[in-house]
This record gives sequence, C-alpha cells and structure tokens, in this order.
Amino acid sequence: MDDSSTVIEMFEDLEQTIIENNPSADMERICGAYEYARAAHGEQRRKDGSLYITHPLATAKIIAEMGLDEESIMAGLLHDVIEDTGVTHEEVAKRFGSDVAEIVEGVTKLSRIPFSSKEEEQMENLRKMLLAMAKDIRVILIKIADRLHNMRTMEYQSAEKQREKALETMEIYAPLAHRLGMQKIKWELEDLSILYLDPIAYAEIEAGLNKRMADNAEFFENIQKRITARLRENGIGCMVYGRIKHIYSIYRKMYTQNKEFSEVMDLFAFRVIVSDIADCYNVLGHIHDMFKPIPGHFKDYIGTPKPNGYQSLHTTVIGGEGIPFEVQIRTWEMHHTAEYGIAAHWKYKEGITGKFSGEEKFTWVRRLLESQQDSDAQDFFQALRTDMFSDEVFVFTPRGDVVNLPAGSTPIDFAYNIHSEIGNHMNCAIVNGRIVPFTHILQNGDIVEVQTSKAAKGPSRDWLNIVKSSEARNKIRQWFKKERREENIAHGRSAFEAEMRREFTTLPDITKEDVLPRILKKLAFPTLDEMYAAIGYGGLSAQKAVNRIKDELRTAEKARKKDEADQDQVIHLVHRSKPIHGVMVEGLDNCLVKFARCCTPVPGDEVAGFITRGYGVSVHRKDCPNYIKAVTDPREAGRWVRVNWANSDSDVYQTGLYIVARERSGVVMDIVTVLSSLKIKLVNFTSKNADGAIRASLTLEVRTKNELDAALARLAAISGVTELSRNAG
Ligand code: MN
Repeated sequence: MDDSSTVIEMFEDLEQTIIENNPSADMERICGAYEYARAAHGEQRRKDGSLYITHPLATAKIIAEMGLDEESIMAGLLHDVIEDTGVTHEEVAKRFGSDVAEIVEGVTKLSRIPFSSKEEEQMENLRKMLLAMAKDIRVILIKIADRLHNMRTMEYQSAEKQREKALETMEIYAPLAHRLGMQKIKWELEDLSILYLDPIAYAEIEAGLNKRMADNAEFFENIQKRITARLRENGIGCMVYGRIKHIYSIYRKMYTQNKEFSEVMDLFAFRVIVSDIADCYNVLGHIHDMFKPIPGHFKDYIGTPKPNGYQSLHTTVIGGEGIPFEVQIRTWEMHHTAEYGIAAHWKYKEGITGKFSGEEKFTWVRRLLESQQDSDAQDFFQALRTDMFSDEVFVFTPRGDVVNLPAGSTPIDFAYNIHSEIGNHMNCAIVNGRIVPFTHILQNGDIVEVQTSKAAKGPSRDWLNIVKSSEARNKIRQWFKKERREENIAHGRSAFEAEMRREFTTLPDITKEDVLPRILKKLAFPTLDEMYAAIGYGGLSAQKAVNRIKDELRTAEKARKKDEADQDQVIHLVHRSKPIHGVMVEGLDNCLVKFARCCTPVPGDEVAGFITRGYGVSVHRKDCPNYIKAVTDPREAGRWVRVNWANSDSDVYQTGLYIVARERSGVVMDIVTVLSSLKIKLVNFTSKNADGAIRASLTLEVRTKNELDAALARLAAISGVTELSRNAG
C-alpha cells in the first residue's frame, strides 16, 4: 500500500470513530485541520519511514475514542505543527480559532519539558506542573494520546530513546492517566513501558499468559457462555467478556511479592456490563449462586468508589474446574469512566449541558481530583487543592529542576527561592534565553536563569512591592535589617572614629558606663549601633555626632580623672602587690584590667589574663571558648599571664547568664524572685518568646563564684527551666 492511500484510510477510520463517539462534531472543521496539518508536515517522515501525518492522525483517533470534542480532535491533528513545521500560534488561531491554537500551544510547551532523570520529589512537582500548565485539561488528554501513539510506535527509535521515553511514561504519563481515571490508557502505557524497560520479563510474562490462555481457552469460553445464558434467562441485558490481567499488573505482583509467574493466581477475569446499578447487584447474586465466592474477595466500589472515580463490583469465585477467577460488574457509564476517566466525564457532562464555559471546566476537574484520597497521592492533591491552575507557577532552572512559585512571581522571587545570596547579588535575569527586567512576570514552563555579581547593589526597597512570594519578601526585609545594617554600622563606626581621632588626641572610650548613657541621650539614640547605623545611612554626619558629644566626653574625662586621683589609683595605676579590679596580674606592676565580655568571670572562676594590644589585660575564664582557642595559638603564647583573684569581697562583678524555659505565666517572676531572695542585683534582663519557650539573657552582679553557683542552683530548680548556662564565647 502506498503512502497516500494509507493516509486516506487512516482519515476515513478517524471519521468513523468520530461519528461513533461524537456524532455532533463538525466534520468540515476537522477535515480542514487535517488538510492543513497534512500540508504543513508535507513530506516529513517518521523514524519508521511512514509519512509524519500518520502520527497526528493516530493521535486524533485516540482522542476521538476518548469521546473528546471537535476542538480536541482538531488540536490532535495539529498538535505537532508549531513544534515541527514553520507554522505559528497566530496562524493556527486565525484559521481554527483561539481555543484550538491555545491547546496546540499547550501541547507544544509540554513537549519541551525535559522529564528524564529526575528525583522522586521533582517527579511529583512535574506532575503537578503538568496539571497546572494545562489551563485547559484537554492539553493533558491530548498529550497523553500523543504519548500513547509514540509508545505504540517506538520500535524504530534508538534503544536509548526507547528507555528514556519508557521511563518518562512510567513516571509521568501513566500516573497522570491513573489520576485522571483513564484505566485503559494507563494499562497500555504501563505495558508498553515495561516492554522497553524490562524486555526479558515482558516476554516471559507474555509467553506465560499466552500459554495459560491456550491451555484454558475452553474454560474461558465455557464460563462466558454460562454467565451470559444465566443472565439472559433472567431478563438481564448484558455484555460478558473474559480478559486476562495486563502485563504490568502481573509484573508488579511478581516483583513486589517476589512470586514466580506460575504462582500468580488471579490472571483471569470476566467483565459483565449491564444497563443500571440495580442490575449490577442482581448479577452479583447470580454469580455467587453459580460459583463459590472466595471469602474476603468481594469489593463494592459502587457503594464506595475508588478515589479516581472508578466504580464496579469485584468478586473472586471458583468454579467446578477449580480455577479461581475474578468477575467485575458495572454499568456502561461506569465502564466508560473506568476506561477513559476524566475524558468520559467530559463526554457525559457535555452531552447534558452542552459546552463548558471557562471556569466550570476547571471546577469539575478540581472536584474530581479533590475527591481522590489514595495515600500515595494524598500530598499531591493536598497541594493541588489550594494551588491548582491559578495560584502557582512552575518554572525551570537552567539545569531543568522545577521551581514552584506563587502566580505572578518575578525573577526576583525565583532568585530568592534558590538562595538568598543569589537574590541579594542578582544583577541580570534571563528568561527563555532573553534578558528581561526584574519585574518580568514568570509563566509556566519558563526557563529562568539569574546571574549574580559580587558588585551587585543588592535588593532595592521597590522589590518589596514587586515580589509575590513571602519567602522573597522576608529575605529582602532580612537583608535590609541585617546585611545592610551591619554594613551601615561598620561604615558609620569608622567614619565616627575617624572624626573622633581628629577631635581627640587619645581616643576616649565612649562605651564606658558613665559616658555611654549620656552621649546616647544627647544624640537621642537607644544604642551605639543605632547611632553608627544612622551615620552609615547618611542620616547623621559623623562630624555632627562628634560635635554634639565632644563637650560631654571632655566633661566626663575630667570627672573621671579627678575620681581616679581621689581613689588613689585603684583602677588604673597600681603597684605590684595591689589588686587591680580585684585581681592580681602576675609580673605586671600596673596595667589596665578588663573582664572579658564574652565570659564575664567572677571571683572563684579559674581565670587567665591576655595582654591585649592597647587595652591592658583582659581577664577570661579558663573555660571560655575564646581562651581555649587562643591559648593554643603559638603566635599569642607570649601574651598570656597568670591572674589570681585577690581576696577582696568588696567588689561586685557583672556576669551574664542564658536561660531557656517553657513558657508559662510567672516564670519570669520566679527568676526575679530567686535573684532578689539571694540579694543578687539584676542589671539587665532581655527575653524573647518563641515556639512556646522563653529565652532570656541576664546580667547579674555577684561578688564570688560561690554566690553565682548558689544562684545557678536555685534558677535551675525553677519549674520549666530547660537550659541554663553562663555566657561564654
Ligand atoms: Mn506528537
């Protein structure tokens, strides 16, 4: 047979299928689409040598068998013209209407998605994306039909291509067909996939089934005749036929239950199709009367339909031959639903109400999907319930990973979804190979690439109004709060210190407790960092800040010098045997002594001194991580000095604690009460509540370690306290 007569025959066959399944379809429009597609594909050929148009024709036939409408059939005929020929979306729209053009465009887009070699997690996302991308569910149905025909004609593809497509079919299209209730197509897709994924097992099962069928042909025919006769006698109109299970279901049984082919029992099944539900139960009665039912094998999926809408009565019985077989009983409508799933629903619904209008089309799909609750798909539908179609957009990284964003998202959302550093340093966004502005709205299936640069300015405040995802918004806010703030503080501080150096010959320590509150008050900032940040932002000039506080600093300096003189050099300059700040520093006659802020030692703690560069001796606890780290550093070896506590209990020492407690009323009160009962002064208390816990930082004044230890013991005993530690490091 020559090429063109094959094609003509195929079209006639398609016409026949359409007339059977959808008599109201406009054959003239369909014929127009066919002729257009045929001309567009021209002499293009498939791998097996046949004219390319045979593929769209076969795809359209599968679509017609599903009972889909004329637009779907037209789109099936045209589904490869945008991808494979020079035809544009606009041209298709002009000739065949925007509906058909949209569907073809949708199918084309799906074809471009790379599915292979993805993690399970990505697979789930891809399935979701498929549904989301198909604003019109017909796109998915046509894509499934397209894939089915490609799988049927894979023989001439390379082995690599066969495996790749089979895997993709197994992981994407068969589960989709299942979820859409299209059992017949799902089975065929699975069987064809296994043929390429595990040809040896496929051949083994196929041979086994053929043998079993041949051996039992008589039995098969006999049972079918007996059931038909019995039901006819009782006035039940029916169709009865025997079938064997499909190959993949046996394959799965063999591999998951680790069985030999000979051990798989229920290979035979009979189907009884009747006109109404009452007859289903009547038939069941007759079957159970004729054969012995196997207990525990009756399932009423009419009363309780399967999640994907499947309905039937299933029973397994055993006849005189001793061979068990399953009988499935259903109505014609249930049968169509079982075979074509969502597509059958389409046909019935459309038969009743005419064409679907926009939104309605999606609500019933949504409802159908919502009603599915099988556990493996539960998360899938959970996610779909809120996200399906309108609320989400799925795009690709250049590597082909799917990123899931709220609808209306921009490349900025995408960048922050990947990593906050990428968002913070992005300087160029590329969508489908073209540079786009950051405000560009992403579409399903876009391939998005973000380029970063160390020199990028970082987020701008406008971005907060552009982004759609709360993730991006939070990360941008965080950046402003943290990254920028630190930068500003650093800049502010160095500008401030430079200005101070111009003003003072020796830099006054503005963090001293007698000075700090006064200058903060003068400048009206709650903390020093706040002031630095303001200088960093440019909200306050360093010069202005220093001008405002220099008098304060000079006054404070003078007052302190006077104090020091009065107190006989207790603080600054002391002689060898005299304690400085309550400690004796070995080998140093006089020096500045500071207690390290990281570990806030108190008398009784084992301590060591570190000779700092310019600030005298800093006293650390020996269990302070900073000490432990620095003491082993050979470069600093010469700087460590022995320090002992002087036996003076007149001095008080500030030390920090960290407490975590379960949130309950009164827990803060209990902490305060413990301290006051021990006459320990609480200098500072800050706390944060989060996740049902209070995290508090305390600064206490104690005289000795014993006093502190007593406090620690009492605090630890407070009900609800889960963590208690001294500050360190
Ligand atoms: Mn195709």
